[in-house]
Amino acid sequence: MNKKRIAVLGATGSIGRQCLEVISNHPQRFEIEVITARSNTDMLIEQAIKYQPNIVIISEASYYNQVKEALAPYPIKVFAGEESLCDMVAFENIDIVFNALVGFSGLAPTLSALRAGKPVALANKETLVAGGDLVMKAALHNHAPIIPVDSEHSAIFQCLLGERSPIKKIVLTASGGPFWHTSADELPFIRKEQALKHPNWNMGEKVTIDSATMMNKGLEVIEAHWLFGVSPSIIDVIIHPQSIIHSMVQFEDGSVKAQMSHPDMRIPIQFALSFPQRFPLDLPEVRFEQLKHLDFYPPDFERFPCLTLAYSALKQGGNMPCALNAANEVAVSAFLNDSISFHQVPVVIEKTIQAISFISQPTLSDIHLTNNQARIVAQNLLKTF
Ligand code: NDP
Ligand code: MG
Repeated sequence: MNKKRIAVLGATGSIGRQCLEVISNHPQRFEIEVITARSNTDMLIEQAIKYQPNIVIISEASYYNQVKEALAPYPIKVFAGEESLCDMVAFENIDIVFNALVGFSGLAPTLSALRAGKPVALANKETLVAGGDLVMKAALHNHAPIIPVDSEHSAIFQCLLGERSPIKKIVLTASGGPFWHTSADELPFIRKEQALKHPNWNMGEKVTIDSATMMNKGLEVIEAHWLFGVSPSIIDVIIHPQSIIHSMVQFEDGSVKAQMSHPDMRIPIQFALSFPQRFPLDLPEVRFEQLKHLDFYPPDFERFPCLTLAYSALKQGGNMPCALNAANEVAVSAFLNDSISFHQVPVVIEKTIQAISFISQPTLSDIHLTNNQARIVAQNLLKTF
């Protein structure tokens, strides 16, 4: 059996590290060809020595010498810079690109991989939020599949396997995040230490804050729209605090299919790599008699305005989701730097979107322009708080 040769973008992150673990559990099936990081040189070097990929890329070019020197005793090529990432994903000895980058930085390498006809296992939801139309067209024109890694989208993808009939409804489940039980009056006083504690998942900082504001679910609605070609009106969000059902699809005959498991990202990570097969994974079984009940509640759009903002950006379409994403990235890092409070995150996003000119069919350069403009607008807004 030929091994699948994998490029792991963002190997030092939460998803990237779990991806390397999954790959190394199946040495007969998978091989790590490339690993990348932005600036975490210590971890990147450690991973390179442990997993012996052929290529290592450090995006922040100023760290090149440090990585190069540390890996000099090994037969590992070292490259630096964002362009190297885009060039490398097209290399012929890569069978699948696993994109675990965070934020807008994931868009260019995704497009580059798809244009080279490479399958992309996509964790980086911001790629689809910012440039969904362009990304899906690139996938279609180059016959390059996008396999979702986000647990909800992996669930939907699994529910749709073997189905040829139209989807009646997609139900995206959400844990509700750490503030599901917090009253509207208390939300302004939330500290980042509280927001960084997620009840069910251990994730990178950006997606953890997105989960706390519910923007994560908003970004996932947009992600689902592009991946499964469904209109926002048939994408519902439901709060399911146990995170056992990872999402559901309803069909026209009233049947509902759900995918369930313990909340563990290694399951969707491995499935994205093993698809269309399933490989063993040493995790606890779901014991229904111990669970006893699964709970569901409607989302609260008033306490979590980010969800409304995401739906409305998607309905407006064009470059608006890209502006939403850029403003959210700025607002989240401002919250993490203690520059704004929790309830100001949606305010920054809403005001930024209002200031951006609408483009109905954005080209790639329009998307880059919108991303840059929205960041500048959001940064300027921060100064007014
Ligand atoms: P992390 O912040 O933990 O990791 C991000 C990775 O990307 C790191 O390797 C980081 O390198 C690298 N990186 C960050 N910025 C850049 C940049 N500008 N250029 C190049 N590389 C960069 O994120 P997560 O692993 O939590 O999330 C990754 C993606 O997966 C996100 O889109 C997230 O929404 C999605 N996701 C995450 C889940 C999770 O459980 N964590 C669940 C579902 C989806 P360095 O370490 O050097 O900074
Ligand atoms: Mg998710």
